[in-house]
Amino acid sequence: MTIYNLGSINIDHVYRLANLPRSGETIHSLDLSHGLGGKGANQSVAAARAGAQVIHLGAMGTGDGWVLDRLGNAGVETDRIARLADHATGHAIILVDRSAENSIILHGGANRALPEDSVRRDLSAIGPGDILLMQNETNLQVEAASQARAAGATVIYSAAPFELAALREVLPHVSILAVNEGEAAETFAAFGEHLPVEGVLITRGAAGAEFRDLINAKTHHQSAYRVSAIDTTGAGDCFAGWFAAGLSRGEDIPTALRHAAAAAAVQVTRPGAGDAMPDRADVLAFLE
Ligand code: ATP
Repeated sequence: MTIYNLGSINIDHVYRLANLPRSGETIHSLDLSHGLGGKGANQSVAAARAGAQVIHLGAMGTGDGWVLDRLGNAGVETDRIARLADHATGHAIILVDRSAENSIILHGGANRALPEDSVRRDLSAIGPGDILLMQNETNLQVEAASQARAAGATVIYSAAPFELAALREVLPHVSILAVNEGEAAETFAAFGEHLPVEGVLITRGAAGAEFRDLINAKTHHQSAYRVSAIDTTGAGDCFAGWFAAGLSRGEDIPTALRHAAAAAAVQVTRPGAGDAMPDRADVLAFLE
């Protein structure tokens, strides 16, 4: 079964500086590195490395071919990613000083300009057993989710970055809501505990995760594995991507949760986000 991921693709440009610039100041960068990021791309890489068939639906500017290569090398199908001549590829300018303080400029660019007709066409073959994965960094979530649900697919939505108005609109079309602890608190404060979805996946960092099955009124708990974390960026995306991959190959909820927690435990021991996603061999070796 296929995972369609309607997701953002960002390039992270990381500049290391002695100090963050003050207003009106020009300073030299000590070092520059480029990485693949965006919650969408991270989740696609995680799910593909978990062994799922993943078709990424998203948009970029016309350059930046290395990004497609990076996604493709992870096993993600990239041929439905729209290339938009009048938008830049989404990117983050990340300034980091010597004490690791940072300032970030995020430019959504093409991520927020997906053409509706192409997304509709790209989802025309989605059906029962397939999964539509989405986060809150693109446009067209409501349109895509209602099409996918009407076709009998499962819709998994990560409410991040959290935006109450966006969540309110999309929630009636969502099967499984995925949130971290802070997002869960905001969601339950706004909607109460009885959300109009089939399940809620809540991740709580080193305190683990739970899946609330609202249809059968049953909660599955999953502890986090104990590791020495060095960089937790993208841990939630790793968990969501692996969990979706587990469901797409027919795993039951406890098994999908256990594999996702093991994958996220491996991911937090590596630097980076998308580039740090483990594959099945890594996770099986970790669980031995
Ligand atoms: P991010 O925004 O950095 O992607 P998040 O807030 O969405 O993260 P978390 O809830 O912090 O996601 O983490 C997701 C999962 O990753 C956790 O449920 C857990 O399984 C795993 N995890 C996170 N931090 C640790 C840790 N320090 N040790 C072991 N596992 C961890």
